[in-house]
Amino acid sequence: MSSSKGFLAMAKTAESIGANTFQFFTRNPRGGAAKDWDPRDIQEMFGYFEKAGIACPLAHAPYTLNACGAQERVRQFALETMADDLKRLEQIPGALYNFHPGSHVGQGDEQGIQQIADTLNRVLWEGMHTTVLLETMAGKGSEVGRNFEQLREILDRVELSQKMGVCLDTCHVWDGGYDIVEDLDGVLAAFDQTVGRARLKAIHLNDSMNPRGSHKDRHEKIGQGHIGAEAFRRIVTHPMLRDLPFYLETPNELDGYQAEIAMLREMAG
Ligand code: FE
Ligand code: FE
Ligand code: ZN
Repeated sequence: MSSSKGFLAMAKTAESIGANTFQFFTRNPRGGAAKDWDPRDIQEMFGYFEKAGIACPLAHAPYTLNACGAQERVRQFALETMADDLKRLEQIPGALYNFHPGSHVGQGDEQGIQQIADTLNRVLWEGMHTTVLLETMAGKGSEVGRNFEQLREILDRVELSQKMGVCLDTCHVWDGGYDIVEDLDGVLAAFDQTVGRARLKAIHLNDSMNPRGSHKDRHEKIGQGHIGAEAFRRIVTHPMLRDLPFYLETPNELDGYQAEIAMLREMAG
């Protein structure tokens, strides 16, 4: 959802389709200026959370951010947008903030990883109340964060790394080559060994339009893609995942999300 709808409205929409949390864009997903958030609206949202049993939401940075762009002005825009988003999110203490690490656009993985870490080192501060999540990426083009090792590299270079976590996107890891269909346990063990399970704070649940390792990043409805319903049953019931917040980013309207939430709840038992 987009925060331009208002926070109370987003919480009510989530509840109306059977959700107990939601993800929202801090501003237009394609970027641009965000209008000010209304403190009364946010207060009403928190009041509604208590009534409806909704957990604190996940904020998603615009897709257009690229903390490791080749051009200085692209990196500067990422820095300023993230700094502004994180300042605003102090109004929603306990929120998660997810972003796509970026695309190095020919600079190479090492340079990309360093620029992403540099950006984080400039926007995080000691007393902040938000946890910032690196999203696992499909490895489209020159995307950084396309395997667990790269996420680990970024985290290792962030000074306030206790403010950091990871959001695992099922479509992205599948497209990135991880076999979450035949070997979910093995993939999660690799994540645990490389990144550490304590870093895992959120899951994006998406099926994929493409076969494993395709590096395409085209989301499909749950059970209608190459990952398939049975794999999602194992994902939502896995001991390492089942207590995490799950967010759908499938190609749906509200009624489609409502049906997927019902199906996933049924699977989760
Ligand atoms: Fe994302
Ligand atoms: Fe995602
Ligand atoms: Zn995606």
